[in-house]
Amino acid sequence: MALIVQKFGGTSVGSIERIEQVAEKVKKFRENGDDIVVVVSAMSGETNRLIGLAKQISEQPVPRELDVMVSTGEQVTIALLAMALIKRGVPAVSYTGNQVRILTDSSFTKARILQIDDQKLRTDLKAGRVVVVAGFQGVDEHGNITTLGRGGSDTTGVALAAALKADECQIYTDVDGVYTTDPRVVPKARRLDKITFEEMLEMASLGSKVLQIRSVEFAGKYNVPLRVLHSFQEGPGTLITIDEEESMEQPIISGIAFNRDEAKLTIRGVPDNPGVAFKILGPISGANIEVDMIVQNIAHDNTTDFTFTVHRNDYLNAMRVLENTAREIGAREVIGDTDIAKVSIVGVGMRSHAGVASRMFEALAKEGINIQMISTSEIKVSVVIEEKYLELAVRALHTAFELDAPARQGE
Ligand code: ADP
Ligand code: ASP
Ligand code: MG
Repeated sequence: MALIVQKFGGTSVGSIERIEQVAEKVKKFRENGDDIVVVVSAMSGETNRLIGLAKQISEQPVPRELDVMVSTGEQVTIALLAMALIKRGVPAVSYTGNQVRILTDSSFTKARILQIDDQKLRTDLKAGRVVVVAGFQGVDEHGNITTLGRGGSDTTGVALAAALKADECQIYTDVDGVYTTDPRVVPKARRLDKITFEEMLEMASLGSKVLQIRSVEFAGKYNVPLRVLHSFQEGPGTLITIDEEESMEQPIISGIAFNRDEAKLTIRGVPDNPGVAFKILGPISGANIEVDMIVQNIAHDNTTDFTFTVHRNDYLNAMRVLENTAREIGAREVIGDTDIAKVSIVGVGMRSHAGVASRMFEALAKEGINIQMISTSEIKVSVVIEEKYLELAVRALHTAFELDAPARQGE
């Protein structure tokens, strides 16, 4: 008998019919004798709808109150799923994050889980009940409701699996696994049987929203066996593992990630003295803005240009801070660009292969795509390009690194 945590995402519980289908699925697992904890998201679109309501009151809603509201989406689906299970003769009980006591810090809208009380869950499991837990939410030490950031139900699932030492955490969604890249953008993307935690973490951090970043961090840290599966189609899904198989056929690149979430800022004609980077980026981090990629040019005429990227949500703020800095240090001008995208190739195979980056640059050059910024690490190469070329770039790289699925008959 196994203990399994199953998380169902928004589209999988997007209608009453789907919730009934999920209940059927959970019932089958119960009939196999497994203990089941289910984590559910809000019905698809609900979290966005709730945020939209808040924005009608204020462009920047008070985070504590926003969390009180957006957490209601999951409270609806846990109750509906528990009802659907009970209707089928499966004993079940639903709990909010507060009721389980998923203790988090007090960073509203992006709280971190600190501790989970597994006692109540264990008592219910022992009594033969399926426990249905609201994803995405917790409670801080003062009893305030918190939420874990968009896509946070994945993290609830993994954290519960870690706390209960579950045999597996299964993330059920609307694709049948993790693909070489987003299958909605590249129809030739291939499902991966396995991917390492390290690669999955890079993919998630670089924009693949199939799993929330923190859920992968958590699974890696606590060694939780994690699998991504389709909610309503049979199949093995994708296993996220620790072992990096030393197979001859190991591909150099496992996947391609991309995002449109960043904006670029350039400060030009900066007097080039020691401490320039600090003078420019100090005030940016002082304003609590995270910087991602950075490029500083070689100086000529004793001045230099300095470019960096931030999240698009922080763009206006960063622009204001940078314009202030430019005045203070006597820089010539500040330029901003929000029409950019970041494309990254990811793979542990890169460690043992030279020339991966140049192969990437060649593929982009062949399509006439200009690279604006580059950053590399041991297992990834990222480039910033003009946003309008994003899909073309991802497809070209997918082909260049031989990731395309073989054409099916008749295609
Ligand atoms: P859920 O609501 O179940 O949490 P999400 O929308 O958060 O589902 O995540 C699933 C989506 O992630 C897929 O529909 C797919 O478009 C997208 N996605 C992005 N990158 C990938 C990838 N590499 N593999 C699979 N899906 C991906
Ligand atoms: N409902 C939340 C969201 O839309 C959490 C989740 O779906 O994982 O972000
Ligand atoms: Mg998700």
